[in-house]
Amino acid sequence: MDFKVVLRKIKEDERYRSARSIAVQLPEGMKRGIRDIVKEFDGKELVFIGDPFWGACDIPQNGNWDLLIQFGHSPIPNLGSYSNVIFEEIQEDLDFELDVARIPFKSLILTSNVTYSNSLPEIKRKLEEGGLEVTLRKGDSRVFYPGQILGCNISAARGTENNVLFIGEGMFHPLGIALGLQEKNVLAFNPKTGEYVDMENEKRRFLSQRYSAIDFASRSKRFGIIVSTKVGQTRYSLARVAYKILEEAGKSPFIITLDLVRDEELLNFPAEVYVNTACPRVTIEDYGTFSRPVITFYELQMALGLKDKSRYIFDEIVMTDEIGSASFRKRN
Ligand code: SF4
Repeated sequence: MDFKVVLRKIKEDERYRSARSIAVQLPEGMKRGIRDIVKEFDGKELVFIGDPFWGACDIPQNGNWDLLIQFGHSPIPNLGSYSNVIFEEIQEDLDFELDVARIPFKSLILTSNVTYSNSLPEIKRKLEEGGLEVTLRKGDSRVFYPGQILGCNISAARGTENNVLFIGEGMFHPLGIALGLQEKNVLAFNPKTGEYVDMENEKRRFLSQRYSAIDFASRSKRFGIIVSTKVGQTRYSLARVAYKILEEAGKSPFIITLDLVRDEELLNFPAEVYVNTACPRVTIEDYGTFSRPVITFYELQMALGLKDKSRYIFDEIVMTDEIGSASFRKRN
């Protein structure tokens, strides 16, 4: 979609018209394009949020502005409505064709990330014309569009069907589906490169890394439990459960809060292993950037022998703590 058209559409929104000061939150890949925004939003007091962000779960809470415009993500329904936030998703036009002959399924569940979510009904129609049986399912209350997958939520891919087709760039989302729903065959199609990838090998490679982290954790003593202060990622209650089961197992746990979960912030803490209750992306995509193993809450349960290791459980977020970081601050 033409970005200038997107900006003009925002200018028609009453919230934009009545705002004096506006904060703009951009994914990394869009930060170089701020000149268009500065030009189009001339006359407003603008501030660009420099911190990186990866989802609509990250809504800065204490900014001194009238309106926040967040680009690149759809709202997360169960976080409630934010009247002073415009979520501008930037969805791509349907300018690619799928080759039905390259899809080895007769029936499938159709999924994508937000970038292509608005095209899924049309893609479904085309695949059905090609002879496939296609299901497009709305996930739980954390997702906005039918078929939409988040890195922390694969509910739209659930169901009795055996096969899932994911449309989008990157491996993060289809890997989540392959890990969380291991009985299904997952095929990822990248509209930018035209590649079709069977996720089986990627899943096996990742699982072997996860099981070695679980094994290391089972032999460790000191655990740092990470809680995010981002409004849509805060799972303090889950961290408290992790703390309790670690204490009961005779380990030494402690809880750390962080906004951005990075190795630099953890280096000086005396943990052998970190249990991440923040965004699951940290454990999947950023795993190699940490100097000590980072595991999920479910992996901790496996490490302590509280869950069967033979059935890997993917970490998903549905509900966060009440109203997120605000409630976390209240409790302390
Ligand atoms: S928690 Fe992570 S995966 Fe979920 S919406 Fe936020 S950034 Fe995306």
